[in-house]
Amino acid sequence: MSLFERLQQAGNFKLHIGGEWRDSSDGAALAVFDPATEQSVAEIPSASVEDARLAVDAAADAFTDFAAMSPVSRAEILRSAYELMTGKADELAGLIVLEMGKAYAEARAEVVYAAEFFRWYAGEATRNIGYLNTAPAGDKRILAIHQPIGVSLLVTPWNFPAAMATRKIAPAIAAGCSMVLKPASDTPLTALAVAKILEKAGLPPGVLNVLPSRRSGEVVNAMLSDQRVRNLSFTGSTEVGQLLLEQCSRRVVRASMELGGNAPLVVFEDADLDEAVAGCMIAKMRNGGQSCIGANRLIVHEAIATEFSGKLCDAMSEVKMGPGMEAGVTLGPLINEQAVRDMVRMTEECIDAGASLELGGSAPESAGYYFAPTLITAVAPDNPILSREIFGPIAPVVTFESEEEAIRLANNSELGLAAYVFTGDFARGLRISEAIEAGMVGINRGLISDPAAPFGGVKESGLGREGSHEGLHEFLETKYISADW
Ligand code: NAD
Repeated sequence: MSLFERLQQAGNFKLHIGGEWRDSSDGAALAVFDPATEQSVAEIPSASVEDARLAVDAAADAFTDFAAMSPVSRAEILRSAYELMTGKADELAGLIVLEMGKAYAEARAEVVYAAEFFRWYAGEATRNIGYLNTAPAGDKRILAIHQPIGVSLLVTPWNFPAAMATRKIAPAIAAGCSMVLKPASDTPLTALAVAKILEKAGLPPGVLNVLPSRRSGEVVNAMLSDQRVRNLSFTGSTEVGQLLLEQCSRRVVRASMELGGNAPLVVFEDADLDEAVAGCMIAKMRNGGQSCIGANRLIVHEAIATEFSGKLCDAMSEVKMGPGMEAGVTLGPLINEQAVRDMVRMTEECIDAGASLELGGSAPESAGYYFAPTLITAVAPDNPILSREIFGPIAPVVTFESEEEAIRLANNSELGLAAYVFTGDFARGLRISEAIEAGMVGINRGLISDPAAPFGGVKESGLGREGSHEGLHEFLETKYISADW
């Protein structure tokens, strides 16, 4: 029996509230689709506002005891979750492919990456370090401690259904917070499987509650209006993030925001072109381009633009598109029909604005939400495709003549999540990294994510950081104690 069948039979594809697996209070359901076949694979309960209240009740009840649990006990739960998750990597990868569509090898890599957040924060749970100072006037001691912030609401997107959940759950556990997770409506099954793993790892009931819902707006708004909810950790689009920040402002709820990206990938004339193409294939094509840190704008020095585009075209031509579970497939379907329509429209607009289509540009007739790897060259700096998050397998190439122009083009976006620089001159790589307005820069690398590194953006790409020691502080408040001894 597959993991999907086992969890379904055990009744784990339901709302997870206070340690129980429950139906929704009003009987509403949510259908989950396989993007490779467009068929519904499961129907699960869809949480209502009443369920949201019950979930916050459970989280609030669990909070005090969990916050008081010893850090090493919380670390042991996290370490056990890491072992359980890596032990089930193959099966969890299959579940991700089923509801999200990505190629199996990438799904498996996501599970390993997701589990690493448990291992990393197992260490961080025991490193909640405050400080002690003598006041400058010498009249008292300044003691600063960090305490768990309280009930936290976690809202995650569909593109990395396991990793986006564990990147929030793990630091929340390490800090001693209880939480309600609202996963994306397209991919709730993986989040529920992660909750099952944490249950097995010994997480006390009510610490993690999971609320799949197709009424995201109502359910999240209700929880943000509840005075027991003190923190929102959101990953998703800038548009929804802005809306939720407004809602947080009503009760001054702490918010961390991992939002959209529009990553520039700059290739200088002194770069190793094979290395640059290999890095670009990862940065652009991973997850079919459906990544917040996906390379969105390929900014290439004009002296090497033709050669780079030719090599990239060859590499993109070798991508095998098909169902994620099929052997050899490296590009699965996009998440839904709307995503395919967006790719068709963006390609047309880009070409209409004067660019040249070199490869792809179309969606096959067959079932499944597929869109071919697409390379577009001779893209003018004011082409509309450069000012939006593509979130699909389209690679637009724009050229530059000088370092200053490359920086200007790279910074010409209101978003600032990730950026990539390819150059044979490491000093130039560092110089450009400092000048680029982004939260993260990869020098001669297309893959930058690491649980031990601070992940996050500047400008409209977000607030706060996930992963690393910094991620722990998204779930902690600082308290100053003034003492004289
Ligand atoms: P989305 O903003 O549509 O949805 C994200 C989550 O918010 C989902 O759980 C969704 O159900 C919920 N949601 C949607 N509307 C809501 C509302 N009105 N009120 C409350 N909740 C609501 O984003 P998506 O399509 O799931 O994911 C893609 C986006 O996420 C892209 O913009 C991508 O760049 C971004 N993303 C960012 C990061 C990062 O770390 N910065 C990581 C992954 C994805």
